[in-house]
Amino acid sequence: MNNKCPWCGSDKAQINLWLKDEFLTKEDFHICECLSCGLLYTMPRPNKDKIGEYYKSEEYYSHQENKKGFIPKVYEAVKKVNLKHKYKLATKGIKEGRLLDIGCGVGDFLHTAEEHGWSCTGVEPSEEAKNIARKRIKADIIASEDLEKLPDASFDLITMWHVLEHVDDLKWQVEQLQRLVKPQGRIVIAVPNYKSYDAQFYKELWAAYDVPRHLSHFNKTTLTKIFKSKGMVLKKTEKLIWDAYYISYMSEQYKHHSLPLIKGAFRGFVSNLKARRSGEWSSMVYVF
Ligand SMILES: [Zn+2]
Repeated sequence: MNNKCPWCGSDKAQINLWLKDEFLTKEDFHICECLSCGLLYTMPRPNKDKIGEYYKSEEYYSHQENKKGFIPKVYEAVKKVNLKHKYKLATKGIKEGRLLDIGCGVGDFLHTAEEHGWSCTGVEPSEEAKNIARKRIKADIIASEDLEKLPDASFDLITMWHVLEHVDDLKWQVEQLQRLVKPQGRIVIAVPNYKSYDAQFYKELWAAYDVPRHLSHFNKTTLTKIFKSKGMVLKKTEKLIWDAYYISYMSEQYKHHSLPLIKGAFRGFVSNLKARRSGEWSSMVYVF
């Protein structure tokens, strides 16, 4: 079993949190803090060939389409608004060009980008999602390992929307980002923020720990340091305000409380309110 930090390789770590896979298997995991670089990571880490087991669920929303019922309807509506927001945020101030979306799912973001004239490439490990994406969009959808075959400085914009925390080989992934982006290009990374109010409130039941699907857990300091060490400079941070609501709603469900929608909405609201002062949003977007 590999028990080293996925970034710096140190095996010196302390356990910060004991928690379960609340979403699917109810198996036990813990979150370690690397004493060398400060990164938080999930232990034990499922093997690469076993990790697919943890994604097998009807409920895994990012790969689902056209579901019936109230919550999926709300989710779909919010997703549309969120997509527009994400597109604006990622492309602000740059003309269309070549875009790489890593972990493109069924191609929602690429679909929006193609409508605006971007020439797109996607990376997606799930066969099911990949097949849906291929029917919807023009973009090439490739396997993660095929990133290595692409030439240096291929892209004006690279996006990872809630994907970096899932990545098995963090070091390899960040090195590929550095290699594939053009010198004046942009990298946009969205990840959950365990320093947010909702994370501190729900503790081990915070839905965005999502072990063992999330293997690394970032805050502003650790993520900025990781990218800076490879020569990528943080230009600004942004927020995704809907995530506070969704994550709080999921966390309320894990608590088995009554009225998860109302309580989650309240907690999400409080989280966003506090983040206006602290800057610690439930989900952060980093622009490099
Ligand atoms: Zn480390």
